[in-house]
Amino acid sequence: MENTPFYFYDLDLLNQTLDSAMYATQLDNFHIHYAIKANNNKKILETIANKGFGADCVSGWEIEAAIEAGFPASSIAFAGVGKTDAEIAIALNRKIGMIHCESLEEILVINEMAQALNYRPQIALRLNPNVNALTHAKISTGLTENKFGLTVREFAELVTILDELNHVQIVGLHFHIGSQILDMTVFEKLSDRILEIVPQFERTLGPFTYLNVGGGLGINYENPTEGIIPDFEAYFETFRRGLAALNVPIHFELGRSLVGQCGSLITKVLYVKKSDDKNFAILDAGMTELMRPALYGAQHKIEKLGANHTENNLLYDVVGPICESSDRFAEGVELPELKRGDILTIRSCGAYAESMSLRYNGREAVGNNLKRTLLNTSLRMVKSA
Ligand SMILES: *Cc1c(COP(=O)(O)O)cnc(C)c1O
Repeated sequence: MENTPFYFYDLDLLNQTLDSAMYATQLDNFHIHYAIKANNNKKILETIANKGFGADCVSGWEIEAAIEAGFPASSIAFAGVGKTDAEIAIALNRKIGMIHCESLEEILVINEMAQALNYRPQIALRLNPNVNALTHAKISTGLTENKFGLTVREFAELVTILDELNHVQIVGLHFHIGSQILDMTVFEKLSDRILEIVPQFERTLGPFTYLNVGGGLGINYENPTEGIIPDFEAYFETFRRGLAALNVPIHFELGRSLVGQCGSLITKVLYVKKSDDKNFAILDAGMTELMRPALYGAQHKIEKLGANHTENNLLYDVVGPICESSDRFAEGVELPELKRGDILTIRSCGAYAESMSLRYNGREAVGNNLKRTLLNTSLRMVKSA
């Protein structure tokens, strides 16, 4: 086993997942942009760009990374509640397809910078639709209490400064209400809100030619092997039905659902420690490599590589080596008896895992492996056990 911890990516599974998402939209005027923040590994970006997806970026660095990986500039959308002047300059100079604006002040800044470049970019307004994503509070973004998007009040105020905005083309709307959403009625509610808002847009801002409904489709963390490819059909069908009244191309920004299941964190048991009522398995990976459990209380399936999970199970608290009590992957999880040197795989780590890794505690940058050889064979063994 190579040096642990490291991320392992199954590119076969990634390709199958991408094909499945593309297939589900092939007959529609739907465009999928990959949300790069989920995983910006270069090989993964190139794989996704090659399949013809667009990119959704939230920083200037991500715009440059997207272009370098082969995403056409015209397919890049740029969102973010706090774009710096330097980042806006990158977006304008690269002539990306769309800038999603989140405040009136930001629109004025873009207008001024575009004027200096004698350029008139297309922009879309990110609106906060006040739709509850019914997901974890920390990954919910579409409620008025969240910082994202223009409020309905700012949207109304926009009309009063339209005269000043000669160097932007306001072509449509953008929404993104949250992440890890598995209840399709949430997307039905979003569609209903969009149908209410579009006529308001057209009354004041003219023809509506662009709609972006964001991302947010969730994956199965509890049991990743079951339905390892998310139900893209159900997701897109919800919008196909909900937005049938609109005659514009519809853009989607999927992150987690495209890459989440293709990655695993491979880590070694350093020590097993017993207290009066607990067994601790102390790993060489911690919150610095995989932050989601500490940040959101997220739970990932943990498996012992190559083991039959039906025999001799014990209950473990699985923890990392970092000097923080929140550095814990699982509490009281059933695993085959563990000993020093055993290899564990933490599943569903393709999204918001490696891209969130930190150097806290002076940690080395976590490595990754995109090969499909020996390790993949044993991963398959785990899956079929
Ligand atoms: C993070 C993000 C996404 C992707 O969300 P997923 O839940 O990973 O699909 C899409 N759009 C915006 C604006 C985002 O910030």
